[in-house]
Amino acid sequence: MGQNQASLHQTNSNQPFDVVVVGAGAMGSATAYHLAQDGQRVLLLEQFQVGHLRGSSHGGSRIIRYTHEDVDFTRWMPATFALWRRLEQESGQSLMQLTNGLYFGLGNDPFLTSAQQALHTLGFPYRLLTASDVHREFPQFQLDDEWVALEQTETGILAATRCVQTMVAQAIQHGATLQESCKVRAIQAAGEGVVIRYATHGAETEVYAKRVVITAGPWVNQLLDPLLGYGLPLTPTHQQVAYFRVEEPALYAIGRCPIHIFFDGNLGAYGFPIYEKPGYVKVAIELANISIDPDQPAAIDQSALQQLSAEVAKRLVGVDPEPHGAESCRYTETPNRDFIVDYHPEHPQIIFATGFSGRGFKHSIAIGRALADMAQSEPGVYHQEFWLPRFALNVFAP
Ligand SMILES: Cc1cc2nc3c(=O)[nH]c(=O)nc-3n(C[C@H](O)[C@H](O)[C@H](O)COP(=O)(O)OP(=O)(O)OC[C@H]3O[C@@H](n4cnc5c(N)ncnc54)[C@H](O)[C@@H]3O)c2cc1C
Repeated sequence: MGQNQASLHQTNSNQPFDVVVVGAGAMGSATAYHLAQDGQRVLLLEQFQVGHLRGSSHGGSRIIRYTHEDVDFTRWMPATFALWRRLEQESGQSLMQLTNGLYFGLGNDPFLTSAQQALHTLGFPYRLLTASDVHREFPQFQLDDEWVALEQTETGILAATRCVQTMVAQAIQHGATLQESCKVRAIQAAGEGVVIRYATHGAETEVYAKRVVITAGPWVNQLLDPLLGYGLPLTPTHQQVAYFRVEEPALYAIGRCPIHIFFDGNLGAYGFPIYEKPGYVKVAIELANISIDPDQPAAIDQSALQQLSAEVAKRLVGVDPEPHGAESCRYTETPNRDFIVDYHPEHPQIIFATGFSGRGFKHSIAIGRALADMAQSEPGVYHQEFWLPRFALNVFAP
């Protein structure tokens, strides 16, 4: 489990649990962190090991940004940044690094237009740059003449796996119990509480808790479908990132090189300054509709690597388009890419959060706060700062 190995030991507790959290990705670890800090007795169950490579939350970097296509998410961001900073202070870990952000597209691109509107409405600073401004100030990028850039400085990088490990470590420090290699098989309401059945090292075990929070990422349908009696429209998809060597590292250093996202109708390619590997930048592109079985190991997608190479050749200056290393990851997508965060309609002791697609990581510490509040509230009470009516189950139910 990496750097926090010493503090991420499993603990045993004979006490009953207030809340069982299923899945120790970004969402589950954030939920356990907040619950444990609130003094709740928490059991965090993970089918693999914390930081494993088969879900959505592993890797060296995720983008965090104020810039969103709507006011709802943009409004959250100062509080979300503050939660990450507080975690850094409490843990002594460096988790978030700012480096400026450039969002490229045609002047009438829907994302750029609405993001600009949201920033303007909330009074957050931004600049609009023409293609020639960009070429003068940021010689790392090649843009067609008619493209523009929205610059927003509150943009940075979260060290993803380290964030997850740190939230788990902090949860344990506040009394949570972590059980790895535990596959939850079934969840059943029992009176006002809930029974969670899981398999560990070939043996089946049951645990009772007052509440359960299901944050199972791409596997969530396996647990939710039987509980709801229907399938939520969730698609686990394969995603590919790769690393590319830069000729002039100073140009792509943090602080000199912004996070960059290209919008051409949809989110296209996006990239980071040098962060994870000295001399290399990470570039990715959102792949649509490659539905996968999360129980199958992730493979490298060669055609996606070719797309990435073409994007690098077209858009980045002084970067070798031959990939040097690649990583696979998974999204869990809803049809509109919005999140689902709600109570079970008949058994509100069961709470779930899913559908975080390609943008959930930055919000995980805030969504975890909302889930921790829901797990300690009467049914139907939602965290006011970090929950939105558009996350309600009935928006997505068939
Ligand atoms: C390539 C890529 C780039 C991304 N970039 C960004 C970005 O720049 N910014 C951003 O904000 N977001 C980004 N995201 C999205 C973000 O990483 C995800 O939205 C987020 O990590 C989702 O976390 P999760 O906890 O829901 O899922 P997961 O991380 O998949 O966690 C679910 C966990 O539940 C466990 N589990 C499942 N079933 C069971 C079971 N039955 N019993 C026990 N455990 C179980 C799994 O093993 C897993 O550990 C990116 C994602 C990818 C893949």
